[in-house]
Amino acid sequence: MNRRTGGRSFSITKPGVVKFNGWDGDRPDEPQLPLYCATSDQPIAGAAFVLIRVGDLEFKGLAEPGIAPPGLKKMNMAIPRTFAEQRAEWKRVLEKLADNFRAGHAQVDPKRGACDYCGLKALCRIRELENDRG
Ligand code: SF4
Repeated sequence: MNRRTGGRSFSITKPGVVKFNGWDGDRPDEPQLPLYCATSDQPIAGAAFVLIRVGDLEFKGLAEPGIAPPGLKKMNMAIPRTFAEQRAEWKRVLEKLADNFRAGHAQVDPKRGACDYCGLKALCRIRELENDRG
């Protein structure tokens, strides 16, 4: 969902569980909102998850100064950037991932915890690969 604030959009989505570092790095765990932000041709001033509980509303995200919803908790990013700079970084990261996918680069390199609930463990050879690595 996009909310208009002073002529600029603010992208909001509703999550289950939010990782505070889910938007950071070269393989972000939570790429949905970064993808919206990186591909939108509209001016965007911020992005946030909204956590709705009985009697409580909480925002987690990033925004330009002065535009954030009340009580916005910032997502953890390794390198502090303006929101516009972060959008450019998301565009770079997500385009690189897409380029690698298109080029067929698909090395087995699961992120920490990715295998915890996988239903393909009986078929997968990741443990052999990890043992070979030492
Ligand atoms: S167990 Fe294998 S198939 Fe499943 S997530 Fe891990 S690497 Fe991927």
